[in-house]
Amino acid sequence: MQRERVSENVYWFQSSVYAQVTAGVIAGPQWAVLIDTLALPEETLAMRDFIESELNVPVRYVINTHHHADHSWGNSFFPGSTIIGHELCGQFLMEKGRPALEQAKKSNPALRQVKIIAPHLTFSSGSISLRVGKKNLVMMPMLGHSIDGIGIFIEEDRVLFAGDSFMPLPFVVDGDIDELANTIKRIGKMGLENIVQGHGDIILRGEIEDACKDNLNYLSAIRKAAKTAVKRKNPLEYLAEIDIESCGKSRVFLGGLAADLHKRNLWYLYQLYAEDEQSIEVNPI
Ligand SMILES: [Zn+2]
Repeated sequence: MQRERVSENVYWFQSSVYAQVTAGVIAGPQWAVLIDTLALPEETLAMRDFIESELNVPVRYVINTHHHADHSWGNSFFPGSTIIGHELCGQFLMEKGRPALEQAKKSNPALRQVKIIAPHLTFSSGSISLRVGKKNLVMMPMLGHSIDGIGIFIEEDRVLFAGDSFMPLPFVVDGDIDELANTIKRIGKMGLENIVQGHGDIILRGEIEDACKDNLNYLSAIRKAAKTAVKRKNPLEYLAEIDIESCGKSRVFLGGLAADLHKRNLWYLYQLYAEDEQSIEVNPI
């Protein structure tokens, strides 16, 4: 696990074992707020150990940026803390997370002690704030990668923990591509010092404009490819030729997982647009 200081009392962690997933902590004088847990218990526990022994404070709040396993399955390692998330994050953890964890436990003994804990405090629109020492954290919905995403903005530092709304390779399979494009545009206009992505490295002020453009261009490229595929005789052969580089991204991103995520993006969008096409034929207006 990598660790870096982002600003005063704000730290960032990045997994060395799974898809460069990240988490963060904001420490106050009496207690700390954790943003997301990591994919495997050993890394989540190492993070907890750092907060308790080096920063000398307990974790009082855990904020889940969304319900995906690599961000929220460590909640149970912070008993006594209040978990905060989007209303749908709680619903998805109970409906999808619980059975998925039972399944995952069969093949991964490292997950044996993991329990799904849904957020205790939820919201679904507007924003909520939390004061930690001298810092004001503002939580707001940031949708597109999933429909339960939230971002956490540290006002004093102009740092945004974007969750998976910002990734080296945008991933839309559990969300909505148009909503994600809007979210990325919104993030680009926030006047940020840093974007902490849900996976990958921290984006610095001078890199933000290009990072937003790159991600928006990628979304346009896959949207266009999937729509073109629907019109082709051999859509699957056509899609197989649309490699990640031709959409402006690199396969080395996310510890090598990027090429696979790219294929899943294309396949998901193709199915979505093909369904739209069919329903137009079946129900002409
Ligand atoms: Zn995710």
